[in-house]
Amino acid sequence: MFDTIYIEQQVAGHARTLDICARFPKATRVECDRYGEVFNPKSQDFRLQKRRPSLILAHKHHGRVLETPDGYGLGGPRNYYFSHLLNCLYDCRYCFLQGMYRSAHYVLFVNYEDFESDMETILAEAGNEPCWFFSGYDCDSLAMEPVSSFVQHFLPFFRRHPRAYIELRTKSTQVRGLLKMQPLPNAVIAFSFTPEEVYRALEHKVPTLERRLQAMLQLQQAGWQLGLRFDPLIYQEDYQAQYRGLFQQLFSQLNTEHLHSVSLGTFRLPRGYFRNIVQLYPDEPLFAGTFSASNGMISYPQALEQEMTAFCTRELLQHIPESLLFPCTLAA
Ligand code: SF4
Repeated sequence: MFDTIYIEQQVAGHARTLDICARFPKATRVECDRYGEVFNPKSQDFRLQKRRPSLILAHKHHGRVLETPDGYGLGGPRNYYFSHLLNCLYDCRYCFLQGMYRSAHYVLFVNYEDFESDMETILAEAGNEPCWFFSGYDCDSLAMEPVSSFVQHFLPFFRRHPRAYIELRTKSTQVRGLLKMQPLPNAVIAFSFTPEEVYRALEHKVPTLERRLQAMLQLQQAGWQLGLRFDPLIYQEDYQAQYRGLFQQLFSQLNTEHLHSVSLGTFRLPRGYFRNIVQLYPDEPLFAGTFSASNGMISYPQALEQEMTAFCTRELLQHIPESLLFPCTLAA
């Protein structure tokens, strides 16, 4: 899977490093001082690296668990996100990661215990209030599970801390580990979907819609709480028929009683990231549409955003109660 594994000297002897390296005995190992030496240089070709990314094993020193931006959450009073991993196995053409990072290599921060101790501090400060922790902000939460054992390690922490809620956000079908565990009432496994036409055009290497739905059905049957994420909503000329068909397909098979939440938000990107992605993929039809710029963000024109959100909200409410619906209201 990896030709090269870069290893920060600080984590060279870490048990998780040794375990991961043992699973890839043929990979060339290269020690480095700090992961930024490999990950941050400007003169990197993201598209080329994306074909065969390396793995970088590193220590996360600061900013491990951060408050989410306003408008991001599922109704809880305190919301945080954390990234044990940077970058993703998949290659969605709209993904902000390719605009944010210069490198397509995966950075895995192996000091999981420090993330947990930061969460414990946050929980102690929150008194009796519940805290939500969102993973999958800078990666897909489950796609790299065979390498990272992230879920296997972190879910026991959440089992011990019932006031801590976790959202695992994914387009993956890596649910084997979850199916072996007792479901947690404070965990939501949230799957992202776009209509089939958008999937085929833009979501390269992502498991098919049908396979993801099957993974959801297995989790549903095992008793896990599920989420659906329609974010970003992507405009195509017949988006109404596309999203109507997608919702029908999903809700004809999913039991809404096992559904924790449904959220949606239209396509938007910080202006700098948008510029970087267009430079990477100048011929991509997605970026040839009409966009508007406001407050440093690029998004669809406001009237189109409102029309798409209103249409999808109306359609979703034919399948789910309003209490499950959480529009993403991040400023654009
Ligand atoms: S699955 Fe998510 S994180 Fe991965 S490439 Fe697609 S949008 Fe980005």
